[in-house]
Amino acid sequence: MESTKQWREVTGLVHSVETCGTVDGPGIRFIAFLSGCALRCVYCHNPDTSFVRRGKEKTAGELVDEIALYAPFFKNAGGGVTLSGGDPLFQPEFSAAVLRGCKELGLHTVLDTAGTLGMRASDAMLEDTDLVLLDIKAGTPEIYRQTTGGNLEPTLEFARRLHRLGKKAWLRYVLVPGLTDKDACIRGVAEFAREVPIFERVDVLPFHKMGAFKWKELGLKDPLEATSEPGRELVKHAKSIFAEYGFTNIY
Ligand code: SF4
Repeated sequence: MESTKQWREVTGLVHSVETCGTVDGPGIRFIAFLSGCALRCVYCHNPDTSFVRRGKEKTAGELVDEIALYAPFFKNAGGGVTLSGGDPLFQPEFSAAVLRGCKELGLHTVLDTAGTLGMRASDAMLEDTDLVLLDIKAGTPEIYRQTTGGNLEPTLEFARRLHRLGKKAWLRYVLVPGLTDKDACIRGVAEFAREVPIFERVDVLPFHKMGAFKWKELGLKDPLEATSEPGRELVKHAKSIFAEYGFTNIY
């Protein structure tokens, strides 16, 4: 994006924002949840953000002006801005514009994505991204499809590209009993992550049912209605697999 004027005028659909996020990247962060996603994960806890394109239309300039109000606070708190969703790569021009604006404010930037639409991210956009939170949702193509309705390969290709560009990432893996808890599935992710060494940290995220009410609100059947949250032992086991592949920074 060449000039300030150009990026400020790009419009996008913003579902909501959070001004004190602590889990989506380092420090305390401004999180912008952008609408839209190409996947249909069975455990999506934001189906109102991703499946249905709900949100408020804003220009990147408007969103960055909002962020600017808190910029000194985020800098002092070792934080910054995270674009999440949905998937921010569903609106690549808008995300690129907001990231540009955040870099002009001198803020640390994070892109929280499943990587499926990685080909939509320009090199310039990735240049403005300090860290990627990459969700690899399964380690076999079959379970990936069952979990998300999509293909695993574009996410892997995006990770390889991040490696070529010298980018750093945190790996996120959602653990669902009876779906992504199979050893072969976890090993598939861990082995890939070892071979593409961009991951500074691994987050094993236990599936939770906090978004279940949103499926109901949208009149959709929750595919995991009968699935329980994983127990402590299962989470420990999944983390131990990542540890076997040499990861030490596992949460
Ligand atoms: S990638 Fe994230 S936002 Fe998209 S469907 Fe899956 S869980 Fe929901």
